[in-house]
Amino acid sequence: LAPEFYQALKELSSAFHTGRESITAAKTLEEKLGEAKEEVRWGDQPLDRLPPELELKGVSVAYQGRPVLKNITATIAAGRMVAIVGPSGAGKTTLLRVIAGLVPVTDGQILINGQSRENVREEAWFDQLSYIAQHPYIFSGSIYDNVALANRKGASKREVFKAIEQAGLAELVALLEQGIQTPIGEGGRGLSGGEKQRLALARAFVKQPSLVLFDEPTKGLDLKTEQILLQSMSQLAKTATVITVAHRLHTVKQADWILVLDQGEVVAQGTHADLEAHSPHYRQLLGLEEVRVEGGRKE
Ligand code: ATP
Repeated sequence: LAPEFYQALKELSSAFHTGRESITAAKTLEEKLGEAKEEVRWGDQPLDRLPPELELKGVSVAYQGRPVLKNITATIAAGRMVAIVGPSGAGKTTLLRVIAGLVPVTDGQILINGQSRENVREEAWFDQLSYIAQHPYIFSGSIYDNVALANRKGASKREVFKAIEQAGLAELVALLEQGIQTPIGEGGRGLSGGEKQRLALARAFVKQPSLVLFDEPTKGLDLKTEQILLQSMSQLAKTATVITVAHRLHTVKQADWILVLDQGEVVAQGTHADLEAHSPHYRQLLGLEEVRVEGGRKE
């Protein structure tokens, strides 16, 4: 067992008990371990617990001097669902991570309800955010722990059960002899990719965030799981601003606004109907989607 997983568990449980290191706990849950910790600037302002409006103003990101996001300007309206689409390597995950506050901007600004995020308290930010990564971080502990610790105040068994149900994991848990007390391995061993994502969704239901960032998986989802994810997303969207990297037509159609990314740039943005009518980039992506759907399980 890798020492960093013990460390993460230690951090999580101490954060849970003292509340002091909750930033570390929240961040640890929102991202995988072992990634370089980069400097994101924070301030001391509180944040209203309301679905935020986000404004990206000329946001650029470079990795080791190589530009990955270039001058992104877009507004994400409060309480709306926005989808990010684009070909592989376009920068979709990076955009989600920069919005999450896990990657620093090299240029530009992110405004939350009109104020620069650099002024917001880091803890206040991560308290309101659920980031459902493609490969969510699962620590060594029970299913209960993995879900309950998403909420700084903890969660009762009933709340965890409800979240597990909302995330479509109830059937799986019912099959386990130890139920929600079943230990799950370091890195989530023993869970499929889809189950890990649903566990991350269960965390979101327990946390009740005002901002949800979701990195939709590119593969490995059966239709039933896809349905559950879509339903969960619309449920969360009732009380949050939702930004999702979308690979599926269903998800895209559900979105109020779509950002089309190509080679690190927003090449088009609008509603599905608008883009379908006017954006060659978007039409090309839709074409790929249709081929994929007609060709069956070709993802
Ligand atoms: P996909 O749909 O394949 O997941 P994407 O649109 O989400 O792709 P990103 O994962 O954001 O694209 O990657 C955009 C570019 O940035 C890629 O060229 C990738 O190799 C690079 N990149 C991403 N993360 C890092 C990192 N931590 N360090 C260096 N380069 C990175």
